[in-house]
Amino acid sequence: MLNEKNIKLGKVRSSIRELYEYAKKRKAEIGEENVYDFSLGNPSVPAPEAVREALCDLTQNCDPVELHGYTSAQGDALSRKTVADNLNKRFATRLTQDCIYMTCGASASLTITLNAILNAGDEVVTFAPFFPEYRVFTEHTGAKLVAVDGDPQTFQIDFNKLEKALNGRTKAVLINSPNNPSGVVYTEECIKKLSEILKRFSASRGEPVYLISDEPYRELVYDGVKVPFVMNYYERSVVCYSFSKCLSLPGERIGYIAVNNVMEEWSEVYAGICGAGRALGFVCAPSLFQKLIVKVCGEVSDISVYKSNRDRLCSALRGYGYTVVKPDGAFYLFVKALESSAKSFAERAKTYGLLLVAGDDFGCNGYVRIAYCVPADMIERSLPAFEALARSYKK
Ligand code: PLP
Repeated sequence: MLNEKNIKLGKVRSSIRELYEYAKKRKAEIGEENVYDFSLGNPSVPAPEAVREALCDLTQNCDPVELHGYTSAQGDALSRKTVADNLNKRFATRLTQDCIYMTCGASASLTITLNAILNAGDEVVTFAPFFPEYRVFTEHTGAKLVAVDGDPQTFQIDFNKLEKALNGRTKAVLINSPNNPSGVVYTEECIKKLSEILKRFSASRGEPVYLISDEPYRELVYDGVKVPFVMNYYERSVVCYSFSKCLSLPGERIGYIAVNNVMEEWSEVYAGICGAGRALGFVCAPSLFQKLIVKVCGEVSDISVYKSNRDRLCSALRGYGYTVVKPDGAFYLFVKALESSAKSFAERAKTYGLLLVAGDDFGCNGYVRIAYCVPADMIERSLPAFEALARSYKK
């Protein structure tokens, strides 16, 4: 008998991917300019010029056998050292290359880390709204994802609800800031409070809880907002990172895991990560892009268009009567649907050419996600459709 669980997963696409496929079909039918596709978090700005230059240099001047050959399973030593040095410089940590594992993006970082830490029957607490793949990644290990609702006014963590969710089976807490889909950035106060609760809880039951921080949007913040670096607040932390968004390289599949070497058992956790990477076949991340990271780590794409898209959309949508929490980071708006069912709201939006992802899979009913990583002129052209959609609910 085949593996029914995987067959089911393979047959049902994520709602984001489903809408993205629909967008492609619809564009072919009625013309690209008539479809306002806000489905996918695909960066709309090009990679920094330094990326193009480094790629040219590598392909022209590197020995091709070395350039395209295998690296160490955990990643090339120089790539890992570059990542560690970059984090140390920015966040005053003391990481070494031995705490870094190079991966194929944040998805691989997460699946490896979850497999390294979890046993069947464990629980992972996360905060709604959350990236829908967390459920798939967690449940595939035999563990359970427990979603705690965030504060709907701010989408920050609701600590009363968190305390109620922690129990003897809780092995890890998974956070994502800047957040997909809300765009919220957890404040320093929020991270401090979270750390205090987890320390107290770990001490009271004599077993650690790990904090896994999924950070593919770390550099995508606006108006000088700072993203607190979890390792500075909580010892038992693991950072899952991706260069997909900051360097606009989502198709190239490059990222890393960083294990906080302040925790007592860090080398065991790192060994578990190497083991899980091996078992899952996630060894030796793409060699060309590991070498690229050595040259461009620290660069960020020009994100000014995301900020202007955010500002324009937020003020226009509020003007039309939508409820929007203005996000500090990432490139998503999480907007309250104008009826109780987000799915039927998103269906009605489709008739206006607006492709919005219903929030149910993000663990938050009654909202839709708008990925505003699109050209500015599309935002402008889509505004009359948003206005007409809102008006249709006033009739
Ligand atoms: N985590 C979050 C919160 C995301 O939004 C994404 C992608 O959009 C991922 C993980 C996966 O990132 P990657 O494409 O680097 O695997």
